[in-house]
This record gives sequence, C-alpha cells and structure tokens, in this order.
Amino acid sequence: MSGNPAVVMRLMASAYAVAEKAGAITRRVLQSGDLGIVEKTGANDLQTLADRLVQQSICASLSKHFPQITIIGEEDLPEEEVKEDLIESGQFEEILQKACPVEFNTLKEEELVVWVDPLDGTKEYTEAARCLYLPDQAEVSHTRLDASELRRTALRLLDHVTVLIGIAHGGKAIAGVINQPFYNYELGAGAQMGRTLWGVLGLGAFGFQLQEVPDGKRIVTTTRSHSNKLVTDCVEAMEPDEVIKVGGAGNKIIQLLEGEASAYVFASLGCKKWDTCAPEAILHAVGGKLTDMHGNAYRYDANVKHMNSTGVLATLRNHQYYASRVPQSVLQALKTD
Ligand code: AMP
Ligand code: MG
Ligand code: MG
Repeated sequence: MSGNPAVVMRLMASAYAVAEKAGAITRRVLQSGDLGIVEKTGANDLQTLADRLVQQSICASLSKHFPQITIIGEEDLPEEEVKEDLIESGQFEEILQKACPVEFNTLKEEELVVWVDPLDGTKEYTEAARCLYLPDQAEVSHTRLDASELRRTALRLLDHVTVLIGIAHGGKAIAGVINQPFYNYELGAGAQMGRTLWGVLGLGAFGFQLQEVPDGKRIVTTTRSHSNKLVTDCVEAMEPDEVIKVGGAGNKIIQLLEGEASAYVFASLGCKKWDTCAPEAILHAVGGKLTDMHGNAYRYDANVKHMNSTGVLATLRNHQYYASRVPQSVLQALKTD
C-alpha cells in the first residue's frame, strides 16, 4: 500500500493492536484471581476489573489517535485519567498493507462510530474464575466437581469470552475486530494464547478459516445464561438437529464462521449494539447475515438506542429459512417500535 492509508484502515490497524492488548489485560486479571465483580442491573449483568480496564484501554488509545471519532463503550465509567500503560499506540501492519475498499476510501474520522464491548461473555468469565479460585462455590448442574473437572469446565467457559470493537458508518456496521483472549488454552504453557479475527465489508475477513456446517444439518447456538420461554420456543421452532448453549455474542458468531453452528438464535432483548456491531461486520464481510427476529437490519448510528429489543438472528447461509421459522408468539412479543 503506497501513500497514506485510508482512515478506516488506520483505525482498524489500531483497533487490532489495542484488541490484542485487551486480550492480555483479560488474561492478567484472571490470573490475579481478583476480578473485582460489580453487579450492574442484577446477578446476570456483571462488570469486572477486566471490563473496566479494557474499556479504558480501548477508548483512550483510539481517541488519542483518532480524536474526532465517536466511541460508545458498554461500561459506565467515571471520567478519569487513563494510566499510560493502558494506552496502545501500535498498529497492525498487515491491515495497513491491504487496499481499502473504494467505497470507504474517503470516509472521514468524524463520520465513524465505534462500538466497544470490552468483554463479551463476562458472566462466563466470572464463572470460570469461580471454578479456578473458589471451587467450593462452583457448582455445575448442582453437582460438585473434582479439581480436574473444575479446571476443564473453567477453560471451556473461557472460550466464550471475547473483546469486540465494531466500526459503523451511515448507520451500518462496516468493519470489526474480535479478540478471543483464551483461544488455544489447551496447548498449555509456551503456546501463544489468544487470537484476533477481523473483517471489513468489501474486503473480507481474516484470522480464521471460514467453514460451513455440513449441508442439511441445522445446529442452533443460543444463550446459556439469559434464557426464557420465548428464547427456547424460538430455538425449537427452527427444528434443529442440535442446540448449543454458549455465552457471548462474539463467540456465537465465531461458531457460525467456523462451521460449528448454522444459526445464532436469541429471541429476547438483552443484547446491545456493542454486542452485535463487530460480529455483524465480520459476518457480513463473508456473506453472512445478522438481523432482528423480523429479518430487519439494526442501525449503528451514534444516537440509536443501545438495546437490540427485537432479538438477534444470525447465519452464514440460509437466513431466509430461519427467519421463516420464527413463531408468531416471538414476533408479537418482540414488536418493532
Ligand atoms: P449471551 O448469549 O447470554 O451471552 O448474551 C450475549 C450478550 O448479550 C452478552 O453481552 C450479554 O451480557 C448480553 N445479554 C443478553 N441478555 C441479557 C440480559 N438479559 N441482561 C443483560 N445482558 C444480556
Ligand atoms: Mg456483551
Ligand atoms: Mg461486555
């Protein structure tokens, strides 16, 4: 790439670098054993020290280098000076080397909106920590686990954790970065832990191997900790061959990208714009689709309401099939405003 790369590519190169730093912070806070958990709206809506530090790190790093972009982060944090060691100034060179899709070449900093979920899957992150550090309080299906089962459970839950940075322009999710801090944990000490996936509309998606679920098989992935009758009724209406319940919006979109699931179905409110912006951009960059339960797109303008009130339906292929199976009860309950 010659000359000065387009703003959106420079922003992506910075977002990639700070997402990697965010992954390292997430691992470090877990290793410390002290998560500093705060309940937000209740026991199923938590914030940890990692959520706080990562949001500070991402917002301060991006706004330092791109002072005119609008950044919206999940966590409500007091205004305070961000420590120097949380600021990332690096850029991922590989992104700077790629040609910007022509339609984004002239976008200006002030036209971009960045949606930040510092930690997606916080509930699972805290449960994993409990398995590792407070085994007496860790129960799975009301059964006490032995030490090695507890460790395996913790590591499985850590897979659900991601860091999400989505970029929107004109209300549309156009680019995104997902860091998965605990990817490769099973390789043990010495192996490089964590990975970063990224994508830009019109350019493609990178950092993973795109795979599809074998033809004819319907595997539905859905929430493990925010379920209700509407959520389970909707999943059943898809007539799935298999249902997977995992945490995190980012994690469920990774499952679609890697052929572990065919549809992400969440017929409830609860998911917010910072949960879907980055995953949607990466999914759309490879031809997938994320909509609400009515099949309508969400908008990501700076002034939209944060809640995705009409649910989330995402697929790599065959979106129409899943949209056509959504029951009337769900469409009624999750009415468009
Ligand atoms: P889940 O699939 O349950 O992990 O949810 C995906 C994302 O939406 C996570 O960031 C959750 O925190 C969020 N979410 C979903 N439902 C709720 C809820 N009822 N309350 C708070 N956050 C929710
Ligand atoms: Mg989230
Ligand atoms: Mg979060």
